[in-house]
This record gives sequence, C-alpha cells and structure tokens, in this order.
Amino acid sequence: MQDTMDRLFETVTARIVAAAEELTELDSAIGDGDHGSNMKRGMEAVAADRAKLAALAPGEALKTAGMTLVMKVGGASGPLYGTLFMTLGKELGAAPDRAGVARAFAAAIDAVKARGKSETGQKTMLDVLVPVSAALSSGASLAEIREIASKSAAATVPMLAIRGRASFLGERSIGHMDPGARSSVIMIEAVLDVLE
Ligand code: ADP
Ligand code: MG
Ligand code: MG
Repeated sequence: MQDTMDRLFETVTARIVAAAEELTELDSAIGDGDHGSNMKRGMEAVAADRAKLAALAPGEALKTAGMTLVMKVGGASGPLYGTLFMTLGKELGAAPDRAGVARAFAAAIDAVKARGKSETGQKTMLDVLVPVSAALSSGASLAEIREIASKSAAATVPMLAIRGRASFLGERSIGHMDPGARSSVIMIEAVLDVLE
C-alpha cells in the first residue's frame, strides 16, 4: 500500500507538471492565468517530501500532502485540493477496500463543498469530482470512471461560472473549460493509470 501511495504521488505530480502550461492557458481565458503554476508548485512541494510520505500510513501521507498544498498553493485551488487530500486522509482507514475509498472520497468532496461554499453546476472542480465520486460509489469500472471524468470536464465548457474568479466574467465565462475541472481530470487519470 505504501508503495502504491508513492507511485500515486509520483505519477500525479509528473502529470500536473506536464500539464502546467495547458492549465495556465485555461485559467488565462477565464481567470488570472496561474492555475498551472499553482498546481505545479503545490505538487512539486508534495513530491519533495516523498521519502517522508513513503514512511507514513496512507491516511497520514495524504493528510501531510494536503497540508503542503494549503501552504504552498496561493489561490483558491490550494485550500480546496488541500481540504480534499486532508479529509481523504482522515477518512481513509488503515486498509481500505473499494467501498471504504468511495466513502472517504465522498466525505472529502463534502468538505470541499463546505470550504468553497459551492455545489455542482457552478463550473468548478466539483463538476468533475462529484460525478466521479458517484461513479466510484455505484460500482462503475475504472474505464467508466475515466470516461465520466473527461466528459464531466467537457460539460463545464457551456456552464456559467458562479464560483471563483471566473464568476467575475459573468456570461463571458461561457465557452471555456474550467481549469480546476481539467486539473481534477488529470489527477484522476493519473490515479487510474497507477491502479489499472
Ligand atoms: P485562483 O482562482 O485563486 O487564481 P486557481 O487558478 O489555482 O486559483 O484555481 C482556480 C480553480 O479553483 C477554478 O477553476 C475552480 O475549479 C476552483 N474553484 C475556485 N473557487 C471554487 C469554489 N468556491 N469551489 C470549488 N472550486 C473552486
Ligand atoms: Mg487562477
Ligand atoms: Mg490566482
């Protein structure tokens, strides 16, 4: 399990670093153009702690990674992804089965909603995280989850932003993919690639 966690941190970090430019471009269209650099800085700080994280139980490692994201990522996404990781870590038991992971993920998303005062349909990361969590809980295959994640991010394109900086644009936020929805897909795909 520790070994898998280390590969998860490594792969998620590598994918976020590789996608930094794409995320920044998305955020330039409807935000302030820093989502790629925010996520890259945050995940590189997490990866810099990999040796320490590898010595911890999975839940503790996720909590630590979440705290790093809160500290290192300026911007809305830091506290939100930080809350996601920290709550996931808190809720994950010592040896979680799929149902346990699904419950922990659902609880982590509830914590993100509370922190962001946000819900689905507002053109945020939640528009990917919530359907993926529902698919995980309902027993969807990993391939189905992958497809749901990518379709859900695409579905943010026609949405009007109601939360985050993109909401300042009003109607002009329509027609662009939400950067946080895209970074969620990238992280979910990285996790699925390790687990599959
Ligand atoms: P900032 O907007 O502060 O520059 P980032 O660019 O790193 O921060 O992150 C922006 C992303 O954060 C958005 O694309 C969106 O997905 C997510 N986000 C912003 N506000 C909220 C919120 N209240 N609830 C959920 N997600 C949010
Ligand atoms: Mg931004
Ligand atoms: Mg910013």
